[in-house]
Amino acid sequence: CGIVGYVGSKQAYPIIIDGLKKLEYRGYDSAGVALWSANKINVFKKEGKVAALEEFVKNQDVTSTVGIGHTRWATHGEPSDRNAHPHYSKSENIAMIHNGIIENYASLKTELIKKGYEFKSDTDSEVLVNFIEDIKLNNNCTLEEAVRIALKRVTGAYVILLIDKDLPDTIIAARKGSPLVIGIGDHEHFLGSDASPMLAYTKEVVYINDYELAIVKPDELILKNLGNERVTPFVQKLDLDL
Ligand code: GLU
Repeated sequence: CGIVGYVGSKQAYPIIIDGLKKLEYRGYDSAGVALWSANKINVFKKEGKVAALEEFVKNQDVTSTVGIGHTRWATHGEPSDRNAHPHYSKSENIAMIHNGIIENYASLKTELIKKGYEFKSDTDSEVLVNFIEDIKLNNNCTLEEAVRIALKRVTGAYVILLIDKDLPDTIIAARKGSPLVIGIGDHEHFLGSDASPMLAYTKEVVYINDYELAIVKPDELILKNLGNERVTPFVQKLDLDL
């Protein structure tokens, strides 16, 4: 029920864990993170509280400056380690977190199973990340294009964040019906369900609108609509003393 992302030059993991704790008030049953590295995207996820995730990750290498984190409120599939987010695509080159519901996931899943896809979770979300990767491979296109094509076929509510092993220093984000805020820092960007995870770092934020897709890099924030037209980010200065 919460999402956090970081791309910049700081260590992503502590920022993400701290951000997830700030979103704990929203309620959740499991938590997880995906951290980018050039060799492999590492996913760590656990049923229970963020503290349980931290305990689980304790002796792992979490060195990374790009990552995404999630707290889950299960809608499709029981609360469990394997249903927790992030979810890998089949190749494990892409990891995705999702808040919301993909209403037409069953028909997409049937389509993918016919193509030989297998699923490790019972979630609607794992269907979407595989649908995106399938489009990417079939069209030999970028992740951004694949997300755009996929979302035109998706019904439901979502905020999604994706990282791709082959796409350094980048988070792709999109939303419809679930909240997404992007904070602008100094050669870094923060993503969150609300501004609380980023307030310690920046007061400059952009509230993303429905049907918008963001390409987020340390020094660049590109917003587009699903028709691939650029949208000018509307930067707001938060006047909060938290
Ligand atoms: N529908 C997804 C699931 O059940 C996401 C739930 C959420 O919003 O946390 O895994």
